[in-house]
Amino acid sequence: MPAPVAPAADPACAEPLAVLGRDVTVPLVTGGEVTYAALDYAASAPALQRVWDDVAAYAPYYGSVHRGAGYLSQLSTDLFEQSRVTVAEFLDCRPADQVVFTRSTTDSLNLLAAVLPAGCQVFVFETEHHASLLPWVDAEVTYLNAPRTPAEAVATLERALADRQPHGPALVCVTGASNVTGELWPVKELAAAAHAHGARIVLDAAQLAPHHPVSVQELDVDWVAFSGHKLYAPFGSGVLAGRADWLQEAEPYLAGGGASRKVARREDGGVDVEWHTTAARHEAGSPNVIGVYSIASACKALTEAGFESLVAREHHLIAKVRAGLAEVPAVRVLSLFGDDAPRVGVISFVVDGWNSSHFAAALSAEYGIGVRDGLFCAHPLVRTLLGSEPQEPGECGAPEAAPGERSLNAIRVSFGAGT
Ligand code: PLP
Repeated sequence: MPAPVAPAADPACAEPLAVLGRDVTVPLVTGGEVTYAALDYAASAPALQRVWDDVAAYAPYYGSVHRGAGYLSQLSTDLFEQSRVTVAEFLDCRPADQVVFTRSTTDSLNLLAAVLPAGCQVFVFETEHHASLLPWVDAEVTYLNAPRTPAEAVATLERALADRQPHGPALVCVTGASNVTGELWPVKELAAAAHAHGARIVLDAAQLAPHHPVSVQELDVDWVAFSGHKLYAPFGSGVLAGRADWLQEAEPYLAGGGASRKVARREDGGVDVEWHTTAARHEAGSPNVIGVYSIASACKALTEAGFESLVAREHHLIAKVRAGLAEVPAVRVLSLFGDDAPRVGVISFVVDGWNSSHFAAALSAEYGIGVRDGLFCAHPLVRTLLGSEPQEPGECGAPEAAPGERSLNAIRVSFGAGT
């Protein structure tokens, strides 16, 4: 688990990073406009001003990556490959690790699922976001029950791994910070447990990386996945970084140009393909150089601002929001590990007597505060936290409750370095 940083004594410990749309006047689809505080960073964080500026400065020089002799192509290729180095540094990767650029965390985890060795068993807590819970459908998956303490999480995993038969390859998938409760998971301890039992581990850092330093080496995880749009770089790219072997032993995730080194017709009429053995193996097609460059820009901005002061400031905000919510008797904050658990700026709650969707809509319409309501693509976790079966929801949406009926979904407020 990343070392928790003590709450700030001084609220002015750091300035928020400049973002686009901190308090933004938004044109309404129904006409008119409203000034709005967007507190839904866990879904998509606003772009850092620095990211926006870097992208704008690069945009006139945009060119194809790995596909041209011209200067624009050379520049884009250089920025693209430099971005790989920046991301590897941001994640404190091992020297031999590979950084593959994807579309998102979901894409990264599906890529990893596509390269699992034959017979690989997968272990995943039921509390995961659906992006971590669902990509493993073609493997033999063990879904672990929701633990109520970090220690119970480690013990549950150890038991499951010790019991597994046969003792072939195995992968544990765990989130670093919950997108529902914001609570940090004991990643380092889970990684140690996985390795002690001959398994590997992938860290879903979609909610951790924007709030906390992530060190692949210190946590000793095998892979990390995260999304640019939650890391203040909303241009459509994501990352899967980690060990090269499984990535390079498998067929490419996507087949096409860029992934192939040599393609030749065979005498029997077929085609022989030699695939790259670098990250390019899984990056077929023209890559999203602006998305990738924007991630590198965000990594640099967060590193230069310094996570220590960003975390201290965020802890101050978390304490303030939680104290405010505690003053309202009808509010119940959702938590798996309890009030003292270290957490990031993601807080979900229900309000007695309120349908969460109506409550969130009222916050937006009457107070200009944008939050999220629903089940947050983590149905089993929210179900456990609410202690009841929600009505049939849309995939990530909010089930309807009758007026006055107990809320069957939740409200989430989330913020970060730009708040
Ligand atoms: N993992 C967690 C913990 C998340 O919160 C999310 C998105 O909310 C994802 C994975 C999926 O991220 P994306 O939608 O960018 O693929």
